[in-house]
Amino acid sequence: MHNHFDCHDLLGSLSDYLDGEARQELCRAIETHMAECPNCRIVVDTLKKTIYLVHATAESQLPDDVRARLYKTLELTDYLK
Ligand SMILES: [Zn+2]
Repeated sequence: MHNHFDCHDLLGSLSDYLDGEARQELCRAIETHMAECPNCRIVVDTLKKTIYLVHATAESQLPDDVRARLYKTLELTDYLK
């Protein structure tokens, strides 16, 4: 793991991190970076909330087309797979 973990690295690793698939050292790098970078903290917070919302709606009775539109709006089409 290189020392300078920047915003670009964080964004690139984010989906693994949020899926719980990132290696421990990567998680630590992300968390260290977030502690120092308010921007990334906001991005990660927002994404976590969004993913929570997506899971919540996935279990609800939302019609498929509405759900698809919501996912698309949130640019989360990756999570539809
Ligand atoms: Zn950052």
